[in-house]
Amino acid sequence: MTDEMVDSRYAALFTPVKIGPVIAKNRFFAVAHSAGMGFAQPHATASLRAMKAEGGWSVVCTGVCEIDETSDMMGHQNDRLWDEHDVACHRLATAEIHRHGALAAVELAHLGLGARNLYSRVAALGPGSLKCTSAYVPTQSMPMTVADIQAFRASHRRAVRRAIDAGYDIVYVYAAHDRALPLHFLSTRYNKRTDEYGGSLENRMRLLKELIEDTLDEAAGRCAVAVRFAVHDFTGGISLKEEGRAVIEALGELPDLWDVNVSPWSFDSSTARFAEEGFQDDYIGFVKKLTSKPVVGVGRFTSPDAMVSRIKSGLVDFIGAARPSIADPFIPEKIRTGQIDEIRECIGCNVCASTEMYGVPIRCTQNPTIGEEWRKAWHPEKLKPVSKQERALVVGAGPAGLEAALTLARRGVEVSLVERESYLGGRIEWESKLPGCQTLARVRDYRVYQLERMSNVQIYRGSPVEADDILQFGAHRVVLASGASWRTDGAGPGTPNGLSFGGGVTVLSPEAALREPALTGPVVVYDDDHYYVGHGVAEWLKAKGHDVTLVTPLADVSQWSYYTLELRRLEERLEDAGIVCVTKSKIKEAKDGSVVVASGKRLTSLACGTVIPVTLREPNRRLLDAMELRKDEWRDAGIESVTLIGDALAPGTVAAAVYAGAAYGRELGEPQRAESFLRERATL
Ligand code: SF4
Repeated sequence: MTDEMVDSRYAALFTPVKIGPVIAKNRFFAVAHSAGMGFAQPHATASLRAMKAEGGWSVVCTGVCEIDETSDMMGHQNDRLWDEHDVACHRLATAEIHRHGALAAVELAHLGLGARNLYSRVAALGPGSLKCTSAYVPTQSMPMTVADIQAFRASHRRAVRRAIDAGYDIVYVYAAHDRALPLHFLSTRYNKRTDEYGGSLENRMRLLKELIEDTLDEAAGRCAVAVRFAVHDFTGGISLKEEGRAVIEALGELPDLWDVNVSPWSFDSSTARFAEEGFQDDYIGFVKKLTSKPVVGVGRFTSPDAMVSRIKSGLVDFIGAARPSIADPFIPEKIRTGQIDEIRECIGCNVCASTEMYGVPIRCTQNPTIGEEWRKAWHPEKLKPVSKQERALVVGAGPAGLEAALTLARRGVEVSLVERESYLGGRIEWESKLPGCQTLARVRDYRVYQLERMSNVQIYRGSPVEADDILQFGAHRVVLASGASWRTDGAGPGTPNGLSFGGGVTVLSPEAALREPALTGPVVVYDDDHYYVGHGVAEWLKAKGHDVTLVTPLADVSQWSYYTLELRRLEERLEDAGIVCVTKSKIKEAKDGSVVVASGKRLTSLACGTVIPVTLREPNRRLLDAMELRKDEWRDAGIESVTLIGDALAPGTVAAAVYAGAAYGRELGEPQRAESFLRERATL
């Protein structure tokens, strides 16, 4: 389909926009996000950004790009432009982005109080002597003198020069996410200065204004200058919605582009549990009324209709996207070519954010190829056909089985997908019923929709299989994606020998609890898993009218949700729901209508009709064991391999299960690489 053939409904998304001296070809703007590879893995970074350019985004931005050692985030592999070596690394990315006809943007950043400086060991910079906000760093910033501010501005200028030298078309000044030095100066929460950089709003925004002017001066028309600015902060203490407005009123015409959002990062990247598509509209909507410069706004947009409405209504000029562009780097091309049904929608789970929190290469629940563009040469839309005719039997239609079946089918394999239940999706079927988890269903729905349209795929629902069935099936490849089942003995990390359950209390797995219409209360959920199932089941049962207590051995409820940026908001949510949370505690025993909870040496008895342990899952390996016992029959049955994948091999996240399915499907029949684990190394 040519540009002229774009569906008229979506034509508004494919008109060009002038950004200062450069022109963006359409309205799709891949905003900055970390990929967890940064300065340490420049080839991998370049390949990831290139994929978005190939997918049709008119602008492709880096992640946070540190300008110098005073904003060092070692441990999180950000982008860096500290020196000439970094310039050469960035040229890899800009060349690739340009090769696909997109503009390259760099989010130059100084994280101010958010910088860790654990590698550089220099003092963090701040408007005063303030606690550094980077987690677990018990240090304070040095209060910047005016001379320090001048030195910082000079350093930012040098980074701008390096960015232009690296080939960037758009250079950012960063003032967002509660982790940017100019934002810390702007905020009365942090800025208590009494000099020309403190006090009045004019004084507090002086640094931001100077940085924009410096960047424009260095750019001198060679590239556009953008500002990423949080117009509202949810953490309180500052009133950015009003001050955000005042900043845009004062500086609106200064840069070439405004990329606006809300702060802090956990709100800008709200999960689907807390915010829907377009959730930032009410906060950023005023910006375009106050500036003639193009405006980028985000809101986890995956629906072309929602995108068009934002452009046509004049809310924004660009549909900004980080997570949707991770889940599907080819959204623009799919819309342009009318393949709307092919869009792999972001589910708003923030598994991608968790990798940034860990400081490791990015991953995604929906898109298993993200982060593997260079290391494994995985392309989200292109798969290498299998070199010989293959028939595969995939047993189990959970996330791993669905992804394996789809990947194999796309490579030309004749696929039979058998599922013992009458529905497809496996764990997704019930997990997506948990409060806040509805978008998980997209993982199933996207894949089932694709599979049902393929002529080389047969799907058998309600079809339990045994080893005899498999041996008679005539498949060359057998993929066992038989999932895992929650244990009900309470064995878990804090209780390796299980829990003591006597009579008078019903013990249910979380999955069974959702199926049980007449469950006996009160309910105690024991969460030693620490992700969404424990609190999800608690919320589900509370909504059904039960008294629910959630007991967990860790200090926080659902502690892994820290990595998905949900932890603090989740605590409020559970409190609002009226769920009693007992932390740093274990169940000692459950019997005769009560559970005894041990909190250190203190024992407390709680009335309990049903206890739901959320601790460990047991991999369902029974079919593999049965097949292994009959290995000598495989050859006659035409079976070349039997492979256990996903939760059936090692229970984990849905993202891990999808990745396992993709890895099986993509690597089947492919020659082993000489280097089994390709990695980027420092050159000696
Ligand atoms: Fe979206 Fe989740 Fe993928 Fe992140 S990991 S892009 S939130 S689907």
